[in-house]
Amino acid sequence: MGKKVLVLAEIKDGKLRHVTYEALTVAQQVAQGGEITCALFGSDSAVFTDEISKYGANTLYVVNDERLEVYTTDAYVQTVRQLVDEVEPEVILMGHTAIGKDLAPRLAARLKLGLISDCTEAVLDDDTVVFTRPIYAGKAFQRRRFRNGTVFATLRPNNFEVLEKPVETEVVPFLPAIKDLRTTVKEIVKKTTGGVDLSEAKIIVSGGRGVKSANGFKPLEELAEVLHGAVGASRGACDADFCDYSLQIGQTGKVVTPDLYIACGISGAIQHLAGMSNSKVIVAVNKDPEAPIFEAADYGIIGDLFEVVPLLTEEFKKA
Ligand code: FAD
Repeated sequence: MGKKVLVLAEIKDGKLRHVTYEALTVAQQVAQGGEITCALFGSDSAVFTDEISKYGANTLYVVNDERLEVYTTDAYVQTVRQLVDEVEPEVILMGHTAIGKDLAPRLAARLKLGLISDCTEAVLDDDTVVFTRPIYAGKAFQRRRFRNGTVFATLRPNNFEVLEKPVETEVVPFLPAIKDLRTTVKEIVKKTTGGVDLSEAKIIVSGGRGVKSANGFKPLEELAEVLHGAVGASRGACDADFCDYSLQIGQTGKVVTPDLYIACGISGAIQHLAGMSNSKVIVAVNKDPEAPIFEAADYGIIGDLFEVVPLLTEEFKKA
């Protein structure tokens, strides 16, 4: 029998986040013919109806409330709780984004549900959904399933293939009772990473302590611009004040899975690998042939990044 799946969509900068398409595709796989419901939050979110219907959502709950325009934990927890009571899903999916990391555990506690977070794979086995998630900073993988009750999982962005499945989508307006809000967002100060969102970038050029200074990031920024990618960093580079901590990739930074990750002057500590080792292709530029990053890399360039990176930029400009 098919499963009833609820996907909590996320909108960022006026666009549906890529991980929402991934969650809808996972929903198609685990629903097995059951009903897929998606929920959109914030004013004007109904504009995404056509988009959502391309990815298999049979029902779209549009929660058009200006208090959900900007994420706050208490408004979203109250809303999604009521939505879950209405939809009664067997599986709830959302992205393991900054919002997902905040909302999912709180919601799971309020709904008395277990939560499987940061999943990189989901398959249906004997009528239960089995999720895979990395543990011990990516050194091992854990397979988890719930035998009973509603399954709640967050999905690591950029890990799942997106498949279109056009269907007729029924749009249902949903008006939650939101009260006693303790938080109001007064201002959002955005930090940019060259215009491309690091956690969803297809190409990342990352710098470590080997870049030596804030100025040393310039050649990396030029390469990222030519490749339409984003700039990232190791904690070594952030701690040395070469760049902002918002660029940090790794166990205590962002987890990224781009198509191409170019690590420049990064040694490849396990805590850094935890954030990028699932990248599809890894290129390492390091002057130390013994650097551990070469073990994780698909392609290694032994050399001085200040010579190699400008050469790469020139070559990519020609392509
Ligand atoms: P280094 O280890 O100093 O490596 C610099 C590299 O640059 C060297 O391999 C060197 O050969 C190379 N190099 C130098 N000059 C050049 C040049 N001109 N051209 C080419 N190569 C050159 N780290 C993270 O990155 N992310 C995390 O989230 C993170 N979380 C952590 C959490 C905990 C609890 C702990 C204990 C540590 C964490 N770390 C994290 C730190 C991690 O252990 C490493 O210290 C850090 O990743 C090292 O950064 P790095 O590779 O830039 O610097």
